[in-house]
Amino acid sequence: MSIAHNLSKIYSEINPPTRLVAVSKTVTANVIREAYDAGQRLFGENKAQDLSRKAPILPADIEWHFIGHLQRNKVKDVVPSVHMIHSIDSLRLLKEIDAEAARNMKKVKCLLQFHIAAEESKFGLKMEGAEEIITSADYSAMKNIEICGVMGMASFTDDMQFVRSEFSRLRTIFLKLKNKYFTDNQEFCEISMGMTGDYQIAMEEGSTLIRIGTAIFGERK
Ligand SMILES: *Cc1c(COP(=O)(O)O)cnc(C)c1O
Repeated sequence: MSIAHNLSKIYSEINPPTRLVAVSKTVTANVIREAYDAGQRLFGENKAQDLSRKAPILPADIEWHFIGHLQRNKVKDVVPSVHMIHSIDSLRLLKEIDAEAARNMKKVKCLLQFHIAAEESKFGLKMEGAEEIITSADYSAMKNIEICGVMGMASFTDDMQFVRSEFSRLRTIFLKLKNKYFTDNQEFCEISMGMTGDYQIAMEEGSTLIRIGTAIFGERK
């Protein structure tokens, strides 16, 4: 199936406020261009080097999302082109992004990545860690980042009830943070969850940003 066809199928399943981030990691700029020509504007990359290589040669109205684990020494490669970073898992990382965004005279939207899966290996915060960041003096002083919500990845399993319970938990986390720290902040509105195998469930559980690669571009080699 063509990329345009794959995209139109997904568009037909999405309702506002949910938006699609087309995960273009491992595909070339030419392939991204094909999705762009089919109307897609939000793209997600998970490696700093790939983003800094692709962004300058693609249309400027693409909204780039960074969805992978980000090392502090790679922040400078990501910030110039990025719109939103989904993978904030420490205050130190957030500080680095704020400083680099200031140098670039821009504001970067950030999501707090939560560890919601049963597996040990995945990155992410727990509630206490997130609250430590939000209540810190360092965070209060930051002018060039905006915390816009939360991100999470469900367990890799066929048990869809289990996956649903993890998404549901992320939504509960979002609502707790919203009610406690961001009630008057319209910008805090994003729940980034759902991939090719589980995005329908994620949307039913309140996802506002689904991150899909395989269902658009095919299996990665
Ligand atoms: C690769 C990736 C996706 C997309 O996965 P697919 O199963 O190909 O849709 C989504 N989120 C993150 C963080 C990823 O690394």
